Amino acid sequence: MDDLPQAQFFFETGIDTEILLTPCLLTRMSQEKWLADNDVPACMMCGTQFGFSNRRHHCRRCGRVFCAVCCPEAEFRACLICVPAKEIDERLQSPQLYEINQFLDNPKLMSLLNQPDEFLRSELLRCLQNSLRNNRTRDQFLKYFGPMVLQSLLEYYTAALKTQSPLFTTIIGIFVNFTATAQPHYAGYLHECNVPVALLASLNQPLPLQTQILIFHALRNVSYCFQAAKQISEFPGFYQVCFQVLQTGAIRAQEFILAIFGNILRVSPESSKQILPIEPIQGICKSSQIVQVCTQLLFEKNQSAQIMSMRLIVMLFQSEVAALIIKTELLKNISRLFKESEFVQMAAMFSTFQILIEIGRIHKKQKDNTVCLFNKNVVQNIVECLQSDNAVTSRSAAAVLHAMAEIDSVKLCTALTDLQQQFVGTVKGLLENEQFYDVSEHLVECVILLEKSENEVGKAIKQSIGDLEGVL
Ligand SMILES: [Zn+2]
Ligand SMILES: [Zn+2]
Repeated sequence: MDDLPQAQFFFETGIDTEILLTPCLLTRMSQEKWLADNDVPACMMCGTQFGFSNRRHHCRRCGRVFCAVCCPEAEFRACLICVPAKEIDERLQSPQLYEINQFLDNPKLMSLLNQPDEFLRSELLRCLQNSLRNNRTRDQFLKYFGPMVLQSLLEYYTAALKTQSPLFTTIIGIFVNFTATAQPHYAGYLHECNVPVALLASLNQPLPLQTQILIFHALRNVSYCFQAAKQISEFPGFYQVCFQVLQTGAIRAQEFILAIFGNILRVSPESSKQILPIEPIQGICKSSQIVQVCTQLLFEKNQSAQIMSMRLIVMLFQSEVAALIIKTELLKNISRLFKESEFVQMAAMFSTFQILIEIGRIHKKQKDNTVCLFNKNVVQNIVECLQSDNAVTSRSAAAVLHAMAEIDSVKLCTALTDLQQQFVGTVKGLLENEQFYDVSEHLVECVILLEKSENEVGKAIKQSIGDLEGVL
């Protein structure tokens, strides 16, 4: 995630478009089996009986027996599922190069889900998982398979969970890929097919952490749908499992859980009571646990985790009780927050500003510990962001400067001393540019406050920019 628009989208939705491609162990295990003719009375794909007019054909890849339609003659005779599966194996290193979607055009492949042969089923699931790479193939998936297949997949999910079959994780991968998109209606579709309930129910089983992380990944994606987020929030035991998994310190798990919490807060702000419980829950969760996790993740090199923790912090700030807990935890780390220079970089910047604004608001009420906010390097970073080509970045920067001027305009003037020329030049440029209307609003307010401070810098700014009182 390198560019700002993508980080911004991620911040707003909590969804990234990462595709899961889990390798399937069964592929190598069962490939060598070459079935004897007499053991197979009917085509292993379409089920038509073999006889004089319907000859048996062995697939050269899997050794299973099919009719001529299901295992057509080509330079390499392979069954309908082995053709795309072989393609996946050969192009696994460069997945963007291959195009296996035409395999979806054959709805009869889905009959393999009811095939007793586990190898054929696993290859089908692997192909489905790989084919869900973009909205076009997702639409094809719906068109050809739709609710029937999701129903079978769900039954399969429950069965595979019981037997601890490796196919279990392949199915989760299908759910993840199906919803790894900026379009919420795919998540809505899974919700209508009851996928979230099945995922939630499996979280209550004893499972390895890696599998739990996969389930949280799928839940994160599906929680983009409002109804699903509500359902997740109300599911018995959901928060307990989350708190337990958060304690493991696994960053991927933490990222997904924070994203789900964010999506829940989007639909029901009152859920902050469950996310930040005032009373400890059975010894596993103290009220500040989430905030501690958020603060730790702010300093992780993992950008997705950073953005998700900032997003949740910003959302929890809306609740007064939560804001108090956050403030206490955050202030412990605030100097570090500003000291780490790479923190204020392009992609993470948008969310950083959200936090700065919130911190500014709190400081306005209680003027403690404001020194670090007016640190020269921090202010320089913000002024540089003001010059960004991206309107959101410069608007955020202007909003932060405005908030800072309201907190203490004299301190802001002092921090601007060496940057005076750069600052004035940028402000002039932005005020003349009509496209940056909402940037100017904050800037004008900020400059007016600076002028009023009667500080040397404030006076100089007034001289170079002129009187702005009448502008708004
Ligand atoms: Zn057949
Ligand atoms: Zn085959």
